[in-house]
Amino acid sequence: MRRKFLCAAAIMLCIAMLFSSCAFGADDETVTAPSENYTKKTVKESKDGIDISASYPETGASNVNAIIASEVRKNIDSFKKEADDYLSANAATCALNIDCEISPNGENILNVCYSVKSEIGSAVKESRFARAYNIAEDGLYGIKDFFAPDDEAFLQTLNRCVRESLTAAGALGETPDAEALNSGAASDGFFGSFMFMQDKFVFVFPAGQLAEQSVTAEVPLSSFDGKVKPGSPSIKDYSQLETAESIHADAPAVEETTAEETTAEETTEKETTEEETAAPVNDGSKKIALTFDDGPGPYTDSILEALKQVGGKATFFMVGTSVKAYPEQVKHVYEAGCQIGNHTYDHPTLTKCSDDKINKEVSQVQELVEKLTGERPKLFRPPGGSRDEHVRGLVNMPFILWNVDTQDWKYRDSDYVYNYVMKTVDKGDIILMHDIHKTSAQAAVRLIKELSAQGYELVTISELFEAYGPPLVKGESFYAVTGNTWK
Ligand code: ZN
Repeated sequence: MRRKFLCAAAIMLCIAMLFSSCAFGADDETVTAPSENYTKKTVKESKDGIDISASYPETGASNVNAIIASEVRKNIDSFKKEADDYLSANAATCALNIDCEISPNGENILNVCYSVKSEIGSAVKESRFARAYNIAEDGLYGIKDFFAPDDEAFLQTLNRCVRESLTAAGALGETPDAEALNSGAASDGFFGSFMFMQDKFVFVFPAGQLAEQSVTAEVPLSSFDGKVKPGSPSIKDYSQLETAESIHADAPAVEETTAEETTAEETTEKETTEEETAAPVNDGSKKIALTFDDGPGPYTDSILEALKQVGGKATFFMVGTSVKAYPEQVKHVYEAGCQIGNHTYDHPTLTKCSDDKINKEVSQVQELVEKLTGERPKLFRPPGGSRDEHVRGLVNMPFILWNVDTQDWKYRDSDYVYNYVMKTVDKGDIILMHDIHKTSAQAAVRLIKELSAQGYELVTISELFEAYGPPLVKGESFYAVTGNTWK
């Protein structure tokens, strides 16, 4: 059962990799279908016998845009690689077409169904996959956002409803892959490709996951008896959704400071790099970066102790208010050889701040940390991942995001966080947690021990990028090392 799930997940991953997309290095760019919440962009590129056309949404949410761009780009890049290989031995035309159908659900949810068609010589492959973007929280919905971590009944209902829907549509034939669902092997990871409509989930299984072709199953929300999502984002009452701002609900309150104004960091030249998309260096190493935001706090020392036991390091993106409240812990982090990053003074959404405010938010933390450790942070993580070109121009450090989001601040459940990381972890990952929550620190202590036992090397962000690339550039965003995708 476990093996089947892994198999399906691997197939899904391969399919996801097949669809890469994006505007990078495209010859031609058009924007169509403007709406209040998004625009649909189309990029076209034609070069060396390879024709590529990709349409995808661009939203007002920066992290969502980064997720979309990454997924589209990965698809394009892996197609190009395949096409190049083919063209080196054959004369033919290769084409990739990525299109998307956008279905907003209210203002805060954007559902997108992508269709991907690739032609390499005479081989034509078609598939579809879907994503539900959470515009309000600037992230991607996983099916786990709709049920409590231990709610097995939800998965069983989901499994049954999907099976019924596919059977009714005659989509579940006698193909071996249909067995995965028939045997009840499905789990949350199995349901990664879905849209969240007003009254139903729509699951779009990519070609090869359940059948040779993509198949679609609709599951009405009413199937879940209104018990769909205890402790998770609400389906109906979206206003009760915990926002990124609430991360700080339990952070120590600190009085206003009156630090003198300074500009963020001194300006240095900014370059754009062509990111590589090959897998991280295959040298047998398994380096990953654990990152802890919003601290330090009363639990930080327990994480440092666990790291020490295994000779591991981590990166702490500190906020100024916590630095002031827990100066000893700042020193401990530094003395442990861990990396300290800047996460602003009091965690505002930077895209809504004046230049003055942004400069202050950043420089205050630089100074506070320097006073305590003698060193200024060299990495920046914007609160909530929120950033735009303007913000990136002002803060002259690399913007370090993440590719594994534990959502620990939302679940506050150490088992959930532990299991989520153990299930998704891969070399090169940047894992996001918050050391201000006891449950997160408890999960981290277990994770550090187990990851290390499994041969993972826990390194700082700088060490991770030095080992696996790409080079860190000031003012640019990095959510993963080469080859890693958001998960
Ligand atoms: Zn934060």
